[in-house]
Amino acid sequence: MAELSPLMQQYIEIKNQHKDEILFYRIGDFYEMFFDDALTVSKELDLTLTGKQCGLEERAPMCGVPFHSYENYVARLIAKGYKVAICEQMEDPAKAKGLVKRDIIRVVTPGTVIESSMLQDDRNNYIASIYLKGKKAGLCFADVSTGTAHITELSADKIASAVITELCRYHPSEVLMNPGLLDCREVTAYIKKSLTCSVELIEDERYAPGLVSTALEGQFGRSWAQATGIAEDGLVRFAMAALLEYLHDTQIKGVERLKTVITYNKAQFMWLSSVTRANLELTETLRGREKRGTLLWVLDKTRTSMGKRLLRGWIEQPLLSSTLINRRLNAVESLVKQTMVRGDLIDELGYVADMERLMTRTVYGSATPKEIYTLAQTCDRLPSLRKQAESCGCPELAELAARIDPLEDIKARIFAAVDPEAPSTLKDGGVIAKGYHAEVDELRSIRDNTKGVLAQLEARLRQETGIPKLKIAYNHVYGYYIEVSNSYKSMVPETYIRKQTLTTGERYITQELKELESKILGAHERLITLEHRLFDELLESISAQLDRIQRTANAVAQLDVLTALAQVAAENNYCRPIVDDGDELTITEGRHPVVEQMLKGSLFVPNDTTLNCTTDRCLIITGPNMAGKSTYMRQNALIALMAQIGSFVPASSCHVGVVDAIFTRIGASDDLSAGQSTFMVEMTEVADILKNATPKSLVVLDEIGRGTSTFDGMSIARAVVEHITDPAKGLGCKTLFATHYHELTELEGALDGVKNYNIAVKKRGEDITFLRRIIRGPADDSYGIEVAKLAGLPGSVTRRAHEVLRTLEATAPKNKVEQMDFDALQEYNSPAVPSEMMEKLEALDVETLTPIEALNFLYELKKTLKGSLNG
Ligand code: ATP
Repeated sequence: MAELSPLMQQYIEIKNQHKDEILFYRIGDFYEMFFDDALTVSKELDLTLTGKQCGLEERAPMCGVPFHSYENYVARLIAKGYKVAICEQMEDPAKAKGLVKRDIIRVVTPGTVIESSMLQDDRNNYIASIYLKGKKAGLCFADVSTGTAHITELSADKIASAVITELCRYHPSEVLMNPGLLDCREVTAYIKKSLTCSVELIEDERYAPGLVSTALEGQFGRSWAQATGIAEDGLVRFAMAALLEYLHDTQIKGVERLKTVITYNKAQFMWLSSVTRANLELTETLRGREKRGTLLWVLDKTRTSMGKRLLRGWIEQPLLSSTLINRRLNAVESLVKQTMVRGDLIDELGYVADMERLMTRTVYGSATPKEIYTLAQTCDRLPSLRKQAESCGCPELAELAARIDPLEDIKARIFAAVDPEAPSTLKDGGVIAKGYHAEVDELRSIRDNTKGVLAQLEARLRQETGIPKLKIAYNHVYGYYIEVSNSYKSMVPETYIRKQTLTTGERYITQELKELESKILGAHERLITLEHRLFDELLESISAQLDRIQRTANAVAQLDVLTALAQVAAENNYCRPIVDDGDELTITEGRHPVVEQMLKGSLFVPNDTTLNCTTDRCLIITGPNMAGKSTYMRQNALIALMAQIGSFVPASSCHVGVVDAIFTRIGASDDLSAGQSTFMVEMTEVADILKNATPKSLVVLDEIGRGTSTFDGMSIARAVVEHITDPAKGLGCKTLFATHYHELTELEGALDGVKNYNIAVKKRGEDITFLRRIIRGPADDSYGIEVAKLAGLPGSVTRRAHEVLRTLEATAPKNKVEQMDFDALQEYNSPAVPSEMMEKLEALDVETLTPIEALNFLYELKKTLKGSLNG
């Protein structure tokens, strides 16, 4: 029977250990895939499917990609949700005896990629590890590409929603979970539906305490708890250990890069549900999911990739500590004032490379010579960045400056070792700088100048021996040799070894000549190997300085974000907000940061806001469609949020008492694709707000209750306002409430702290102009038909609508609903059943009733009911 070829047997052996991954199997200059992998990859990447003799009767299906461009193919497979195991040749095929040794050097998964071509510069790529037990969870979000992990312990009655909030905050591309999490359907559904990321279930046995301690000790040393802040009895230790094990399994080397562990507590940050993040369009737009049109888009004037990622993190995690917020604001203010310094910093930062990710590739040994050279060029900018930051005279910036290590030694080492023209790969040499290593220089000169080197040696030997006609020559049998004619034979030194005697003279070799010969013949190959070794040594020596470089990278990223915030503030005329622990949200001439940027050419109309937890707790905002209600409400929420990330805000003055959460209910996020009705989505979101908001929260409600009948909707809207604004009944938090139910405006006066506002419009005949100005008091009309006309509804339709409206107003008193009081509405909805009727019903024996008796009874009941309603 036919048998698999040795190569295929080796392939099958390795493939059996990586059944879940696509195996990229290196053969010469290609990575090849076989059997099912070949079928999958050829289909997914549109590659030609061929076959390879494998020893069996039929050829093995095969497809392949060139090794030098494999990243692009791996990236596309990762994006489609596959994992790829890279199998390398572990020895030089030219020198291998028999079958070339091969092994897996790395498994690339969505959460563990480090290649720049597979990552987005401006966002972190997190892998999450979750360990859930009962109502507690340990969470770890690591970015392998920057070597940073964020950890937290959660304990909550609603543990599922707490876990989801964190997942939403970090948006991981891969999740590791313990089997306990499978019982938490809400979380698994969220991961499947909203994250659509790769999930790895880690078996319970892998969380055995012994294994956990070994993993943590191996990574962080014996005192791992102190080194990382991971509690010895917390659940995070399980999550972290599982993550480390997974990294060891997939990354094989470089896991030590994961050094920075940041412990956080969700109480440090403003609570923002996934709905609110989406509604406020913080980092992506609701429609199109783009950056343009978001708060991030407005604020992102950062110059480095590290700064871009940090800014995103800040926007996603506004702070709650007024002290920390004011520290950031101090730095921004100083940079706003120091225009020249800011300009210089912006210039300098433009030359700073992505040190964080570069360091990861350095530790992994995969940084290219060109990249390493840019690290040195970056180091070159550090002293100046430090000087600029120090020169501001701001303590916060001085502190940051002190954390910027000029890394002079590293810069000097790289500049000395790496050729400024170094290529992006090691394969052709040309990496090591001239003068760094004597042997490299020598090999190069030999390679480039064999004739010259031999002539030099010849000249030197002539001089040393005094034999004027000494000659160096070459033949295939002896290689290089020295020839001396008979007349000078006596002057030949003893160290010369005779190889051949001719009639005219003698041929010799020397140790030195043999060495030179092997250098000449293998100069190129040796040069490449030596350059490789020296470069690896350089990478290792830089890796040893990881802590210093990481600290510096972090300080530079912060400086970049603070400078960017200052630049945005200066360009857009923002003001420094007063941030304290009070309950105010007072804004003078506030603007919507994004809408004002989008309104190129036309002017954004600024508006004031007065909100607090006492006299101005709930603003009921009325006004026609398109007047600007949503814009106004969102602008207030965004201003509070911006203040709490440490940014200046679009206003002429602003006072923000720290808010612990922003809740929004805004129609646009209706999730119809998930099979929920508009009304259900709306009510679920409102329920969420009522359950989670605290008196320190800011709530934005846009037209709640509109998804059902007018009476139901209005009743719900009113009850919600009562609950939210009344501290005795419910929350008493700051609320912005836009509504088309003009009837709700009567709540001013009836409920403490409720104030009516409307967005002014000017009416001329049947046309209206939006003034965009918020003013006190309820709106005088809804102007629905006028707005419809503006929207382009045909004149015949709007004219007819006016006719219908006039008829309706004539037959039903205008605002009939307004005149009904809500207690009466309640009675109307569920009229009391007359007691007499109840008694009769109770006395009735349905079992013994004949059809005619039943009919008579019904008749009688109806009569009683009629009498009671009329009476
Ligand atoms: P609807 O009730 O139909 O949702 P709305 O009252 O919430 O409407 P918005 O969506 O907030 O209205 O605003 C409509 C448009 O008006 C915005 O897209 C924006 O371009 C413009 N706009 C809103 N506020 C202002 C302002 N203060 N200055 C200038 N333009 C504004």
